[in-house]
Amino acid sequence: MSNSVARLAVFGNPIAHSLSPLIHEFFAKKEGRAISYEKRKVEGDFASCAREFFLEGGIGCNVTVPCKIEAFEFVDDKSVRALMAQAVNTIVVYKSDNAPTTYWGDNTDGAGLLGDLVRLKCPLAATRILIIGAGGAARGIVPALQLMGQMHSITIVNRTKEKAEELITSVQDFFQKKLPERALKPMRAASFAELNAADVTAEHHFDVILNATSLSMSETLPDLKADYYRRALFAYDLFYTPEGKTVFTEYAKDMGIAASFDGLGMLVGQAAEAYAQWFHTTPEIEPTLDYMRSVLKER
Ligand code: NDP
Repeated sequence: MSNSVARLAVFGNPIAHSLSPLIHEFFAKKEGRAISYEKRKVEGDFASCAREFFLEGGIGCNVTVPCKIEAFEFVDDKSVRALMAQAVNTIVVYKSDNAPTTYWGDNTDGAGLLGDLVRLKCPLAATRILIIGAGGAARGIVPALQLMGQMHSITIVNRTKEKAEELITSVQDFFQKKLPERALKPMRAASFAELNAADVTAEHHFDVILNATSLSMSETLPDLKADYYRRALFAYDLFYTPEGKTVFTEYAKDMGIAASFDGLGMLVGQAAEAYAQWFHTTPEIEPTLDYMRSVLKER
């Protein structure tokens, strides 16, 4: 392979389903850049797989489930976004003739979501945001929302309420240690039972509902009462489908939320942010989204 071809890969397990190669190949083709982008299944430890790839000439990589925490531990330096999320999904290799090679880690998931919310004209200023779920994806998006800081408040509801509490504590600790001058917007953890027992009023409602659970994969709705949807203005499911419809977005529409979207734009957005770290150019989102929808529909 020619030295002018930039070698990239995505690491994870499972990895066969990953759309990252198609997205990055589309970005590169648009600007006439030669890249090769592989899928690498991680069966042992992430660090050995990554080192092997970088020794072969890889200039960077993406990292997906379940390797984002190991990638966080693997890199020498990290962006603030990675420190906030405590997880790395993008690595850049820095090589120099007179210094050891170093690995730099970033987390582009939160920026991918925020970029998509802005693209979709999600009302963010002074809004009450409900995040359903407190897993890996929520870990990336809660600190990114706090860094943006426009909203009124964030409520995190999770099947296991303790995980929502832990997420809030970790975001508070991070900002206290690293950005003490930033005043955080209020955050609270809740169980579904607590939310469903409360009346939905002008003081207690959500304008924006983000589904960060994996429930849509099994075509299941979160156990949240309809009154919350009826009062909300915007709904977003991080899960995505070829048609842009999930069980959650369709239910939200039925409850009157016309602005209801799936997460393909977030996927493309986080990839664009990663590409910008490797090549210092930011790809266009809209043509890539159109391309990815058409690819998904043909599958
Ligand atoms: P995790 O496995 O880390 O977290 C899963 C979350 O879903 C947890 O909050 C979990 O609750 C909840 N959950 C799972 N099963 C149930 C259930 N039966 N009832 C109630 N809650 C449940 O997954 P991720 O955070 O990595 O991913 C979440 C979603 O986001 C997935 O659909 C994924 O495809 C999507 N995603 C999309 C991205 C994009 O770019 N569009 C990027 C990353 C993720 P508990 O803590 O109680 O187990």
